Amino acid sequence: MKAFECRLCGTCCYGKGGIVVKDEEARRIAEFLGLSETAFRDRYCESLHGRTYLKCGDDGYCIFFDREKMCLIHPVKPARCALWPFFPANVKDPQAWELAKDACPGISRECTHEAFVAQARIDAPQAFTEPLVEPLEPKK
Ligand code: SF4
Ligand code: SF4
Repeated sequence: MKAFECRLCGTCCYGKGGIVVKDEEARRIAEFLGLSETAFRDRYCESLHGRTYLKCGDDGYCIFFDREKMCLIHPVKPARCALWPFFPANVKDPQAWELAKDACPGISRECTHEAFVAQARIDAPQAFTEPLVEPLEPKK
């Protein structure tokens, strides 16, 4: 049994302000969509406190979520999406991993945190090395 196996439920694509887009990700997604970066930002992103986020649709899901096809930008989706649920906090902290189970039915209820970490080492080694979001610049 795997410690995590995506059930394609879409729960992680729901909710406003969850998906930060880094500059290089914005460029990559814009290219994938055949848009200029400016057009992509205008159409699909919003800014808050100096960060760029993907917009949500009226249904509350990410603007790129489609119930049939799931993620419409899957090959170039932001790192945050690609990594979930192997976020650094869920790998480091068993309590965060317990909470993550409420948000992700793909995390096995039978496996241990050690098994989750072992799978992360293979499937998502970035979880051990990279911050998902750079800290905000202090306000001057
Ligand atoms: S919440 Fe978990 S199981 Fe559902 S789509 Fe996201 S990663 Fe997959
Ligand atoms: S970019 Fe794709 S994976 Fe990420 S929240 Fe949007 S639809 Fe979901």
